[in-house]
Amino acid sequence: MKTGNFIHNPKMRSFLLKFFGQKNFFWKLITPLLKLQKNMKTDCIFCKIVRGEISSKKVYENEKVVAFHDINPQAPVHILVVPKKHIEKITDLEDSEEDKEILYDIIKTCKIIANQMKIAERGFRIVVNTNPEGGQTVYHLHFHIIGGRQMRWPPG
Ligand code: AMP
Ligand code: ZN
Repeated sequence: MKTGNFIHNPKMRSFLLKFFGQKNFFWKLITPLLKLQKNMKTDCIFCKIVRGEISSKKVYENEKVVAFHDINPQAPVHILVVPKKHIEKITDLEDSEEDKEILYDIIKTCKIIANQMKIAERGFRIVVNTNPEGGQTVYHLHFHIIGGRQMRWPPG
């Protein structure tokens, strides 16, 4: 369709007039972009992995989460489960339906990964380091699934 035809199409003209005639059309245009920006950070390493801009060894993915091998494994099995939405840390989770579903999906994924990696019966550990004293180095929420060897307590 040529641009001229597009603009002169009566249905399209009435849609454009209605849309741009609204007082708040600017916010209707900008709100989805702001939401997208809030959910993804350009300079975050795990957001880049989610978008496929940095390579990773993915073992599982669904609509809400991605799981991949840790680049510096601390045990024979060391997988990270991260939400696709950029949430900096566990204390930033909100009491919203969206975040409740994300948390549920992360836990469900941990179970899937434990079975997939054959450590469910032997045992494994889930770790969520939070803030400097918790040892968090990447500020995009992630659950470590660690297994395949005897775990010690207390952790270092
Ligand atoms: P934390 O110290 O709890 O924030 O954990 C961050 C984890 O991310 C560490 O275990 C790192 O080895 C791991 N990591 C950092 N960059 C990457 C990457 N590009 N791919 C996979 N794992 C990564
Ligand atoms: Zn991120």
